[in-house]
Amino acid sequence: MKNAYVNRIWEEVKAKNANEPEFLQAVEEVLTTLEPAVDKMPELEPNAILERMVEPERVIMFRVPWMDDAGNYHVNRGFRVQFNSAIGPYKGGLRFSKEVNLSVLKFLGFEQVLKNSLTTLPMGGGKGGSDFDPHGKSDKEVMRFCQSFMTELYRHIGADVDVPAGDKNVGGREIGYLFGQYKRIRDEYTGVLTGKGLTFGGSLIRTEATGYGLIYFAREMLKVKGQDFKGKTCVVSGSGNVAQYAAEKLIQLGAKVVTLSDSSGYIYDADGITQEKLDWVKELKCVKRGRISEYAKQFPSAKYFEGKKVWEVKCDCAFPCATQNELLEADAEMLLKNGCKLVAEGANMPSDNAAVAKFQAAKIMYAPGKASNAGGVATSGLEMSQNSERLSWSAAEVDAKLDSIMCNIHDNCLNTAKRFGLTDGEYINYQAGANIAGFVKVAEAMIAQGLV
Ligand code: NDP
Repeated sequence: MKNAYVNRIWEEVKAKNANEPEFLQAVEEVLTTLEPAVDKMPELEPNAILERMVEPERVIMFRVPWMDDAGNYHVNRGFRVQFNSAIGPYKGGLRFSKEVNLSVLKFLGFEQVLKNSLTTLPMGGGKGGSDFDPHGKSDKEVMRFCQSFMTELYRHIGADVDVPAGDKNVGGREIGYLFGQYKRIRDEYTGVLTGKGLTFGGSLIRTEATGYGLIYFAREMLKVKGQDFKGKTCVVSGSGNVAQYAAEKLIQLGAKVVTLSDSSGYIYDADGITQEKLDWVKELKCVKRGRISEYAKQFPSAKYFEGKKVWEVKCDCAFPCATQNELLEADAEMLLKNGCKLVAEGANMPSDNAAVAKFQAAKIMYAPGKASNAGGVATSGLEMSQNSERLSWSAAEVDAKLDSIMCNIHDNCLNTAKRFGLTDGEYINYQAGANIAGFVKVAEAMIAQGLV
């Protein structure tokens, strides 16, 4: 890093957070791309903006005791990282997974601040969750865990304070239990969580929003080059919420989707995944809570590859929709060797920094998650508006707003990249465009609000 201020902050962040690799990775990725903006904004350093951007406003950590069906007691660790409230109440998902620790949640919260800024909606950034893994737990165990988690979390959140949502392993079932407990303790019916069921304040299209939004963003990238999805071969990783609806929108736009995966392996369907096959996957994952390997037993056109990643499959476009660091340097090399021309991230930080560097060096179309997966939180913002107004909009209305928000985010990244000289002929650095656009808005709000 050439800018002295950026360099100093990076050294301080490394020294202070040496045992938080995911957080350091996320900060490094952002700082390396912010230099053109920091060079042009001398007011940042005297206002200690970078120092404050990399330090959460508040971290809450708590014990979550719960009882399993056999009457045994368990204790998990709960967290809420309230990262930055300069442009609105904290907003960001809850993740339940063994991998959850402070480093993972600080990386997610840090990214969320910039992502929420890009949506144009008034939302600050936060993230939370627990090292509890719902896989293999009964509904009643999940309910008891969620009730215990909320029995502490309720003190720290509120419709105008902090509005959590779902994330990995926190879907409609978990949000329902969390909402029920919040309502019971507070004795109030407010939009304190998003991703709620449709019968109690949820928004139509919220389930689809991250996946659909990702494909709307990628469609805009192709449009700049006079292309569309018709006939393009696409690989999608994951088979959860984001992957399912990314695949669905790709199919609707005429692409051929050939893969889905989970943490055990991936399936390759040479004939392409149709809407009917995808409906079967939704049932498998959301109702039966089964493994993607079962797809290959159900559909003879498919093969299952245990322990492998989808990036070895030849494709035009790739959509990492599973988890952080699922796409490493060697995977990026494989994609490029096989002719992949577009990578758009549905997951948060799925490509590590070395993989991103490969995409940038090859000058392919690359969309960072904080821009391309912002449709989920944007639609959460629309759910908050509907809750405040005591109204619910139609699916078509929400989908149209989502599409328009994704087009705006795309254009904002593109125009920021152009303004800072981050384009080269047909090549557009969306990564730097997204980071700078998200950052500048938050920085200006922080300066206006003084030293807080
Ligand atoms: P889900 O829990 O619904 O699905 C996650 C999927 O990824 C599962 O199929 C899971 O399989 C799979 N997976 C996990 N680890 C790996 C791995 N190492 N390799 C391959 N597959 C893996 O989560 P979501 O779809 O909601 O979230 C996915 C990503 O998108 C996360 O990074 C999340 O932060 C991000 N995101 C989600 C948003 C949302 O609205 N849901 C919004 C913005 C970002 P298994 O069952 O084996 O664990």
